[in-house]
Amino acid sequence: MTPDQSTALVTEGAVIEIEYGGWRSRAACRHADPDLFFPEGTTGPALAQLDEAKRICRACPVRRQCLTWAIDHDISSGVWGGATTEQRWAIRRAAGLPEERRSAS
Ligand code: SF4
Repeated sequence: MTPDQSTALVTEGAVIEIEYGGWRSRAACRHADPDLFFPEGTTGPALAQLDEAKRICRACPVRRQCLTWAIDHDISSGVWGGATTEQRWAIRRAAGLPEERRSAS
């Protein structure tokens, strides 16, 4: 895939358009298993997947851009910028931003 291509990531019934290029071309997760960032469930293997996703995010050079993008675009699933959906909600609340437009699945 070239940096200017885009694709749609289908997860938990949501379709998230991902454009490659800009900060995304430097993402530490660009070759990682997407399932790590969108685990099914909140227990057992899903917790190990979340931990691994967050470990990758901690070393990511574009973590801040990723987190900001996810908050700005109201992304309601997955790990972005090292934060889960619930953590992004907490950031939104702390920043005085409006509640999510969509509910988490
Ligand atoms: S912060 Fe995490 S989810 Fe975002 S681009 Fe980097 S590795 Fe991927």
